[in-house]
Amino acid sequence: MISVQDGQNRVLARILGPTPAEIVALPRALGRVLFDDLRAPFDVPPSDNSAVDGYAVAGADTPSHGTRELLVIADLPAGAVFDGELAPGRAVRIMTGAPMPPGADTVHPQETVERLDDRVRVSALARGANVRRRGEDIRAGTIVVEPGTLLRPQELGLAASLGLCQIAVHQRPRVALLSTGDEVVEPGAVRRPGQIYDANRFTLRGSIEQCGGAVLDLGIVPDARDELRARLGEASAAADMVVTSGGVSVGAYDLIKEVLREIGTIEFWQVAMQPGRPLAFGGIGDAHFFGLPGNPVASILAFMLFVRPALYKLGGRRRLFHEVYEARTLEPMTKKAGRREFKRGVLQMREGRWEVRTTGPQGSGILSSMVHGNCLVILEETRGDVASGETVLVEPF
Ligand code: AMP
Ligand code: MG
Repeated sequence: MISVQDGQNRVLARILGPTPAEIVALPRALGRVLFDDLRAPFDVPPSDNSAVDGYAVAGADTPSHGTRELLVIADLPAGAVFDGELAPGRAVRIMTGAPMPPGADTVHPQETVERLDDRVRVSALARGANVRRRGEDIRAGTIVVEPGTLLRPQELGLAASLGLCQIAVHQRPRVALLSTGDEVVEPGAVRRPGQIYDANRFTLRGSIEQCGGAVLDLGIVPDARDELRARLGEASAAADMVVTSGGVSVGAYDLIKEVLREIGTIEFWQVAMQPGRPLAFGGIGDAHFFGLPGNPVASILAFMLFVRPALYKLGGRRRLFHEVYEARTLEPMTKKAGRREFKRGVLQMREGRWEVRTTGPQGSGILSSMVHGNCLVILEETRGDVASGETVLVEPF
């Protein structure tokens, strides 16, 4: 049996190069992972421009006290450019975002001036006020987004502001997914006594897609050695990663490990954690293999701990683990020293402090605990029972 941390290190050590690049149109790049760094080909903004609607003047024409009248010689909407040089004693009416006329360096906001026919009366104002400087957002040549970054709406907007209409991202890792178990049936089908609907293929499919993977859904496979062998062989030939649930513990029909030994390799299969102790990691051909437990909470937890960082690494992401925080627990929790335990918790801010309680019964089959909860409570290996009021680690989900 190995620790969670050991298991994670061993999984990540097996994941070598990330997936290669593909070019996608910018509107399709949301949630993808940037392949090359994104560099600015020009200054943003590309020229000095007005930050307000108002009147552009030369600093020397702004009085240090009292007011001064200037002749308004042009009206510049956004997008228009003033050609020529602003002569002394003159002003140009300018809209937000319009480039500053040569010779002007200050903009008097519309609300602060008095307009009299073709003249405008301005008063004291700091030189350079209300002007956005060329390059103040981004200097030409600088890296604005690092490779391996998950593209959010703001990164897409930034890429667009640099004139890009397509972008190189990592290809989605291909993940073959199947459920195992004679008792497991497809939702929508008739369920006979003793049968259960397949929940794991849906939590896992969603989890894989949330992590940027492309799912190859291979359905439900019964607990039959020959069929498992054939389907796993097929899965590994078609995907970068194979994920199964069920059949990894020590029951008479738990065949995953045996089949894996025949057609691939096992790196480890037990982790000192609760829930989710039985968990097989290895490889079949060129594909990585994750045999997750059958219990619905255990399988999604094992996914979060081992498959997710692997999928992130394979998909080119720089950050492989989610942020962990501290909170005060509102209730005692039982805990066995020597293994890492994960409770489902409800985290909330009260009177300026983060507090957490559990969702109630914590059995590894109680999937509703994941639905009612919003975080994992992580209890480290060295820890025993936890008293109310102690500080614990939490990871929001
Ligand atoms: P196993 O590890 O195959 O013995 O499964 C452990 C428990 O999880 C059993 O109660 C199974 O019925 C249940 N289980 C296995 N696969 C699934 C699945 N795909 N969806 C929901 N429950 C499952
Ligand atoms: Mg089973």
